[in-house]
Amino acid sequence: MTNASTKLKRAFEPNRFREQGHRLVDLLADFLDESQTQQRSAVLPQIPADEMLDRWSAPLPAEPAHGFEGIINKVLEQSNNLQHPRYVGHQCCSPLPLAALTDLVGSLLNNGSAVYEMGPVNVVLEQRLVQWMCQLIGYPDTADGIFTHGGTVGNLTALLAARQIKTDYDVWRNGVQPEKPLSVLVSEDCHYSIKRAVGIMGLGEAAVLTVPVNHRYQLDLAVARRRYDEALADGRQVFLIVGNACSTATGSYDDLNAIADFAEERNLWFHVDAAHGASAALSATYRHLLDGLQRADSLVWDAHKMLLTPALATTVLFKDGSNSYASFSQKASYLFEKESKEEWYDMAHRTMECTKAMLGLKLYVPLMVYGTDLFADFVTHTYDLTKQFAAVIERAADFELAAPPQSNIICFRHTRPGVTDLDDLQKRIRQGILKEERFYIVQTALKSGFYLRCTIINPLTTLEDLTDLLDAIRALS
Ligand SMILES: *Cc1c(COP(=O)(O)O)cnc(C)c1O
Repeated sequence: MTNASTKLKRAFEPNRFREQGHRLVDLLADFLDESQTQQRSAVLPQIPADEMLDRWSAPLPAEPAHGFEGIINKVLEQSNNLQHPRYVGHQCCSPLPLAALTDLVGSLLNNGSAVYEMGPVNVVLEQRLVQWMCQLIGYPDTADGIFTHGGTVGNLTALLAARQIKTDYDVWRNGVQPEKPLSVLVSEDCHYSIKRAVGIMGLGEAAVLTVPVNHRYQLDLAVARRRYDEALADGRQVFLIVGNACSTATGSYDDLNAIADFAEERNLWFHVDAAHGASAALSATYRHLLDGLQRADSLVWDAHKMLLTPALATTVLFKDGSNSYASFSQKASYLFEKESKEEWYDMAHRTMECTKAMLGLKLYVPLMVYGTDLFADFVTHTYDLTKQFAAVIERAADFELAAPPQSNIICFRHTRPGVTDLDDLQKRIRQGILKEERFYIVQTALKSGFYLRCTIINPLTTLEDLTDLLDAIRALS
């Protein structure tokens, strides 16, 4: 046997994998324990990017030179720790450890699911999950959908379908016709991926009709109506309105029934960006926030936000499942046996990606093992806790809310007697909090100014952690 194949064989040795795997799981279990008990105090170690680059500048060796555990330990030490209860920053969840283990199975099998033969089990699991999610939303039996790598790709996929269906010519085949420019109505608080999708679609920035939000940070439908009329008078065809459930910046849910009424009246495609907030459908307490979602033509739902799943795993759901074939009307004969649209199991008909990770698997297994109530409880608990935190803020004389939170996203700011530049104060506070490394929080610019922003998304975060955060902010001079 040649030297090369001996080395390869050794790298694939089952017993070596067993031994490395056991060591890795021990290491990660210790990491989880130390994070949950806050023995690891740093949430996000403050290492400037250039210094980080230096720390990882060792050349890639031609021959074995480094131990596995040493590298993994270094990764754990220097990463942003989403398993820490004082991680209250962005909307990425602390994934269930079981979901992480399941992801390992997906990595080892590596069944890219472009067509059924490439990943038969995963294709079917994704279909099962799509059906389950459609049911939770209250969609009819004709609904269907697909998994994508993230909400950004998901939003683009839905918008492409909307355009193909709502125009009276074949955009996919003939391109955009300049005579009647296309437009979309979006809230000023929509996620940037919506405007980016419009850009990618070649519609130009002028296509985006931005609608302001009201004092509760919800799309102002009266203004949307006016903007629609103006666009029509300008010779534009408005084909789409996008609702938020909930918005990224403030976690506010739009009035979906009101938007659905308007969309029906004007024959618009109604897309809901529910990347974060669709998971409220599991919670008996909070599913009312999604009233009207079942009327949306399409929606996007991220499992890596509120379904305890490691990034990425998103579904794009269509009320009329046959519309899910409209996004990509292209044919690739080397992948598909027939050109029939009925082959639901050859996912590449409907996805932008070709090879995909086994996205359904890592969500399916924890749902089956722990049951759906665990996920429902997680949503209810984090939304409840955010309300309790809001009540503490409202009682405090030196803090104020941007708006009462509807979800587990909350924006607030600190006030101090004599300080007039509140925006600058919040920016300095965030820098100070990051420097101390004991919490991870983010910030956002809203129409009424600059705010500190928390997403309460780690299931082990307590009200005490949050009141400690307020004290930590007060203690910053
Ligand atoms: C997170 C988010 C997105 C982007 O989704 P990714 O999965 O990060 O690509 C889009 N819209 C909303 C409302 C979001 O919260």
